[in-house]
Amino acid sequence: MRNERDGASRLQDELIFGEYGDVNPSVCDSSTFTFLQPQTMRDAFEGKAKGCYLYSRHWNPTTHALAQALADLELTEAALCTASGMAAITTSLLALCSAGDEIVASRTIYGGTYAFLANLAPRFGIKTTFVDGHNLEAVRHAMNPRVKVVYCEAVSNPLLEVADLKGLAKIAHDNNAKLVVDNTFSPLMISPTRWGADVVIHSLTKFMNGTSDCIAGAICASNEFIEGLMDVNSGVAMLMGPVLDSRRAASIHKNLHSLHLRMEKHSANAAILAKALVDAGADVHYPGLKNHPDHELLRKTMNPGYGYGGMLVLNVGTRERADRLMIRMQEEKVGYLAVSLGFYKTLFSAPGHSTSSEIPSEERMRMGLGDGLVRFSVGLDHDMQRSAERVLSCLRELDQTNLAA
Ligand code: PLP
Repeated sequence: MRNERDGASRLQDELIFGEYGDVNPSVCDSSTFTFLQPQTMRDAFEGKAKGCYLYSRHWNPTTHALAQALADLELTEAALCTASGMAAITTSLLALCSAGDEIVASRTIYGGTYAFLANLAPRFGIKTTFVDGHNLEAVRHAMNPRVKVVYCEAVSNPLLEVADLKGLAKIAHDNNAKLVVDNTFSPLMISPTRWGADVVIHSLTKFMNGTSDCIAGAICASNEFIEGLMDVNSGVAMLMGPVLDSRRAASIHKNLHSLHLRMEKHSANAAILAKALVDAGADVHYPGLKNHPDHELLRKTMNPGYGYGGMLVLNVGTRERADRLMIRMQEEKVGYLAVSLGFYKTLFSAPGHSTSSEIPSEERMRMGLGDGLVRFSVGLDHDMQRSAERVLSCLRELDQTNLAA
């Protein structure tokens, strides 16, 4: 690890010039690279020609520059950019597990990750035990010598549970397993490696990029792990090829430099909306609220200066009421009825029927993911008080409408 300062300060010190001294890294728009000597090409294949690029499914200078920025941000030695968050998750897990191995995963995770672990990974002989990640005893109990990975989200989708990363890292390491943490909901806010995480994953699609104009992901880890993913003979990334295009990497890289400001504003706006909803007596889950069960844990885990995050969940009881509320909020210009998060506009969706629909309904009910939940990714609104009043007015209207409560 290069130093212990926070990710945003490390990023601030980044000086990567373009080919002509351009202030942004050059966009290397080529899939392949020339060599003056065949021997150098042979060396490059064997990983012996440092600084030489070979083929853009392996490394491309522009995506490499973004990867270095992401490693800075997550306080890791190295990183790899992928074509989606799911590609980052599946690549990492397939690199860490072989047929016969097992994963212990928190059950409150993104629906796509849940579906991969429950439905697809078993086809490759990888079994997952889902546990209540909050209950460290249950996690410890699920460990056995075949478990290679403990998997969680730092702040979970959509219930906003906060992981006890230190506790989970200890359990993983006591059992010779790795702790893999999806930090999509809490970039900069939480640095999982500070608490012992071995691999940190992002869907760059979300807060990291912030403009909802592309799908991308990242794996941040040690040099050894990232180099292993890119091994020409056996690397999961090299051989399955989930790479990020260089032009996309360049645009994400530019957005990354405003992440610290955006996270502060998303959090400040979410806190305004949370308070307005609490004052109105609504059933709201926001980890910045003192009555949130993980408030203290998040306070201890988070880095100062970025607030409690831009995600908030409101429970309005039933699917009909959630649907009606979302329609009205969209009409009143609160934001968009859309999945995803981290956009400058507020986005809202009902996770039970969208991003978490892959989780079986009994399991959803057990974890408290009811049909009446509305998940908000609070935007960068200039006048959040006005937006909060619009939400409250839509809620009041809902109470006057004859819908099942
Ligand atoms: N991880 C989390 C926490 C997510 O919310 C999502 C998508 O919503 C993903 C991973 C998958 O990311 P992508 O859509 O970029 O593949």
